[in-house]
Amino acid sequence: PEAPKAAPVNTVSQYACQRRTTTENNNRIFTDAFEVLAENYEFNDIEGRCLAFRRAASVLKSLPWAVRCVGATQDLPCLGEHTKAVMKEILQYGRSFEVEKILSDERCQTLKLFTSVFGVGPKTAEKWYRRGLRSFSEVLAQPGIHLNRMQQSGFLHYGDISRAVSKAEARAVGNIIDEAVHVITPNAILALTGGFRRGKDFGHDVDFILTTTELGKEENLLISIIESLKKQGLLLFSDYQASTFDISKLPSHRFEAMDHFAKCFLILRLEGSLVEGGLQRAQGDGREWRAVRVDLVSPPVDRYAYTMLGWTGSRMFERDLRRFARLERQMLLDNHALYDKTKVEDFIIPRQTDSLPRQ
Ligand code: ATP
Ligand code: MN
Ligand code: MN
Repeated sequence: PEAPKAAPVNTVSQYACQRRTTTENNNRIFTDAFEVLAENYEFNDIEGRCLAFRRAASVLKSLPWAVRCVGATQDLPCLGEHTKAVMKEILQYGRSFEVEKILSDERCQTLKLFTSVFGVGPKTAEKWYRRGLRSFSEVLAQPGIHLNRMQQSGFLHYGDISRAVSKAEARAVGNIIDEAVHVITPNAILALTGGFRRGKDFGHDVDFILTTTELGKEENLLISIIESLKKQGLLLFSDYQASTFDISKLPSHRFEAMDHFAKCFLILRLEGSLVEGGLQRAQGDGREWRAVRVDLVSPPVDRYAYTMLGWTGSRMFERDLRRFARLERQMLLDNHALYDKTKVEDFIIPRQTDSLPRQ
């Protein structure tokens, strides 16, 4: 009889939440190409393929080594024929012709440009493209185009908010919010989340969880902090979304990346003098401040742990954590709670001491 096969060593999990991944990416030449392809599929509403390339990129990002030949990927999960063909091309010619074609495609270029504006999603970008618009100046000069408040701010602060936010800038933003919040209440809890919590050196925004130990007081807290920032002249834009959280209506069986907590999407004015080592780059126009995108989410304190888990990212990590819970543990996870599918009525609430950050 055939000898039993030895368990494979160093197998890479198909779930991002089971892959140890550092911020160092040894396979950027492939993952950058995959992101171009994924985004192009996203623009064309081909979700399956978009996800396939993002999954493949996530697997390659977790590798502590650089792929030097396609053969080396044979034991890796989530890499299909198409993905491998692209990798082969890159290994052989240093570039992928499919990717280059997309990058030089007018529609793709235009959609990428338009969606780079805060408040402009793929649908709006497509609409503008269909109207024959190809540049910001054409959009802004076009009669009959209505820009909402978010898009107006997006154009107004375009240069600043498309420039990466540094760790030092993120820290300075944290200090501003921390000071403002402790004037409002001594019971506040403020924690950094998102990419900076994962240890990234740069981000497109700064994300915070803001709550209070007094259950139920968290919603007013967000409104008070917005008011305080406004009074200090630091608020350039604010979109506040009130809580629609209702514990009795959970769990929601739809896949939801969005949660129901009170939150706000802000653009803040950050003075260079508050940033250790100064602003990321000279403004070139004599300005000593920059605009920074900031997200605040404000869950009730007994939902703190799930919010932290859900907002820390990355998006693929979150997605696979939910998929892992569902397929491997028969549980449902979202930003609000973790449910045992076999007895959905008693969902799992962490003890307060587990859910609060160490101060
Ligand atoms: P970046 O450096 O580009 O900001 P990031 O990982 O911080 O990277 P964000 O878009 O800021 O990306 O999102 C951070 C996390 O918060 C993600 O995991 C995302 O799933 C979650 N998130 C963002 N917006 C919402 C929302 N409206 N509802 C629920 N979760 C959200
Ligand atoms: Mn972020
Ligand atoms: Mn964010």
